Amino acid sequence: MPSVLANAPKPIHKVLIANRGEIAYRILRTAREMGIETVTVYSEADRQAPHVRHADWAFPIGPPPSTASYLRGEHLIRLALEQQCQAIHPGYGFLSEIAAFAKAVEKAGLLLVGPGSRSMETMGNKVTAKQAVSGYNIPLVPGTNHPVSDPNQAAEIAQEIGFPLLIKAAAGGGGKGMRIVTKIEELHEALHLAISEATNAFGDGSVFLEKYIATPRHIEIQLLADDFGNMVYLFERECSIQRRHQKLIEEAPSSCLDTTLRRAMGEAAIRVAQACGYRNAGTVEFLLDNDNRFYFLEMNTRLQVEHPVTECITGLDLVRLQFEITAGLPLPIQQEDLRINGHSIELRICAEDPRNQFLPDLGKLIRFHPPQGPGVRLDSGYEEGMDIPVHYDPLLAKLIVHAPNRLAAIARMKRALDEFELSGPATTLDFGRWVMNQPAFVEGQFDTGFIAKYFRGAESLDTPLPPWESSVEGDPLSPSEQIAVAAIVLQHRYQSQESNTILPTLTKSSDTWHQLWKKI
Ligand code: ADP
Repeated sequence: MPSVLANAPKPIHKVLIANRGEIAYRILRTAREMGIETVTVYSEADRQAPHVRHADWAFPIGPPPSTASYLRGEHLIRLALEQQCQAIHPGYGFLSEIAAFAKAVEKAGLLLVGPGSRSMETMGNKVTAKQAVSGYNIPLVPGTNHPVSDPNQAAEIAQEIGFPLLIKAAAGGGGKGMRIVTKIEELHEALHLAISEATNAFGDGSVFLEKYIATPRHIEIQLLADDFGNMVYLFERECSIQRRHQKLIEEAPSSCLDTTLRRAMGEAAIRVAQACGYRNAGTVEFLLDNDNRFYFLEMNTRLQVEHPVTECITGLDLVRLQFEITAGLPLPIQQEDLRINGHSIELRICAEDPRNQFLPDLGKLIRFHPPQGPGVRLDSGYEEGMDIPVHYDPLLAKLIVHAPNRLAAIARMKRALDEFELSGPATTLDFGRWVMNQPAFVEGQFDTGFIAKYFRGAESLDTPLPPWESSVEGDPLSPSEQIAVAAIVLQHRYQSQESNTILPTLTKSSDTWHQLWKKI
């Protein structure tokens, strides 16, 4: 089958996928559906991986450490040219946000399936990102938008921001390079340590100060932008269930946004993208505080791990759209065409032990039998019998469910987790099961401190789960319809003055269906 992009302004017939694991396989699947020939690469540790077997061509690129394989940008560009590829898809991680790699790809006359190197440069550093968006009416977390290294200056700024505060590495990522400071006496040493940690971890010792937002929710907006200045936002993802400031469970839409806030955040995200001349798929991350005020955190200039939940609720294939934009085609959708369809939840299945502080676990995948059935998607980079290498991120697979509403999605995730047969290393599967049964999660009343507040490792996982109060699997009503039904039921129940006082408080957007039902 010829490539569907054969006649695009910048035709793509063949792509090199510069990644591994589930994301390499996920990109490969869409490329094949589009008739684009695929070249994948693998380190010695990944010889058995499905992204190697299912590609049209696969090439070994070196020993297991990523610096000797997946991070060898020049080598990968040379291979793409030799193989007569027109494009390189970097996935996420590895080379995906390295502006120098994007520049080298451009220089070699290849297309990078992602944004231009200039947007990467601006957004790849949290300080330059903050500077770039100033003037675009984007709320920032109170703090500095320049690097701080002088302890006296830091002390002055800290007094203005107040405590607790965070010292963050400008070049930080993956939840690394953050340090909480709770009082002025800790500041001097914390600054010193943060600078040396940032230098060691990221090769850049720039740090800045930011107010520590108490009990925030992590809400991010998915964007798409083409070469012609068209931009759309594909609504939000909520990623507040985190360990070590890294996401474990994501969902779309968020249980705490109403239409007005969703639009305000979506439009703010578009302004962030405009501030850096963005093109392709990208994500703008925000923190939302207890008073529903949102603050810009950073922009990720690539496809995100959690993109499938957005695909589920919008019915779009983000990788396909990335290829189309790269090939110079205009976006096929406008903001007014977009609707949220149902609810989607993703669990990251990582080879790490929730009984032991989520530390990485290794070994052979002895049994790996994922669930199937309606509304279940599994994006995996592994198969039964494979060894999990020590050299990479512990993400094995992502379990994604889609259902008509949030409670039905939770019920579906529980069903899928019950079907999942996995043995070998410890994973986050048990943890996922536990979360789906927590009242705070079910009711949508949680923030980034969820794990610290409720999770007690083995003690939590080994305590029998409470019986699920009301099964609402398959409930076809949207949240607003559920509230309307609840209101009608209440009108009948309280044919008195009482209903007039109860109803306005019940229909606040913070009330979930579950809470309303309990009140009825
Ligand atoms: P990274 O680039 O390392 O992922 P982010 O700035 O995106 O770092 O933040 C990751 C997570 O760290 C957030 O989702 C949130 O949980 C926490 N975090 C970051 N900044 C703040 C802040 N100012 N206040 C409270 N929590 C924060």
